[in-house]
Amino acid sequence: MLTDYHLHLQPDGQEARDADCARWDADGGFRSAAWIGRYVERARARAVTEIAITEHVHRFADVRHWHPNPWWQEEATEDLGAHCAALVAAREDHGLPVLVGIEMDWIPQRVDDIGALLAAHPFDIVLGSVHWLGDLAIDHPDYPCWDDLGADETWGRYLDELGAAATSGLFDVLAHPDLPKVFGTRMPASLDARRDEVIAAIADSGVAIECSSAGLRKPINELYPDPDWLAAFQRAGVPATLSSDAHRPDDVASGYPTAVAALRGAGYETITRFREREPEQVAIRWG
Ligand SMILES: [Zn+2]
Ligand SMILES: [Zn+2]
Repeated sequence: MLTDYHLHLQPDGQEARDADCARWDADGGFRSAAWIGRYVERARARAVTEIAITEHVHRFADVRHWHPNPWWQEEATEDLGAHCAALVAAREDHGLPVLVGIEMDWIPQRVDDIGALLAAHPFDIVLGSVHWLGDLAIDHPDYPCWDDLGADETWGRYLDELGAAATSGLFDVLAHPDLPKVFGTRMPASLDARRDEVIAAIADSGVAIECSSAGLRKPINELYPDPDWLAAFQRAGVPATLSSDAHRPDDVASGYPTAVAALRGAGYETITRFREREPEQVAIRWG
């Protein structure tokens, strides 16, 4: 089977949402079964039979105080309980193959809050994402870490946080594992040994990584992670999921021929399926 385990019901930022909102309004809102059904429909058209909606945690009012960044605080307007209830209803009442998920930021100072929030909701899958190094953003162009830190420090600190996120025990999957390359700055070769230590720690933790086609839609124009990282994860015994990180129905499972070929090329024969945060390996198969 194929899955898409990293999806958002709306784009990031109010401007982009204002531009798109007529589409979900016509369906009865972005949490309606009709709108979620459009994600399922596009998935099925691309041979994907199960999806997970993994909204950014920063969209929810519950966590507005977690981070000082003004963009984070502006975005934190939604109701997490309503999000989870809508996904449960889409599955239970409408028969859609949808998992209840969340894309949770790794914020080291908020470990207890993250644990409490995850325990309070019926998640099937929790993605862990390192988007921030303190107050500086890795992939938000308005708050870039690159000007302040440079490549060595950005990548070095990123690797430390990725390892810490894995060993925290909070997450099921590490999202976009080589994210700092997003704008084109690759990891310096001097960090190769450190990267391999982090991959070994991820393997010990039992957390999966995602093979994400999102990078194909970003300036770097390649999968997360790149083939070298993906092969290193496979050799270390780290399981994988498959995802697009789509923020609109059209992008669900986009780039999957490339992503599936990369997984197979790295030696993966299975991907990880989740239900109530329990992993299971299933063969990678079209249709
Ligand atoms: Zn992300
Ligand atoms: Zn995402």
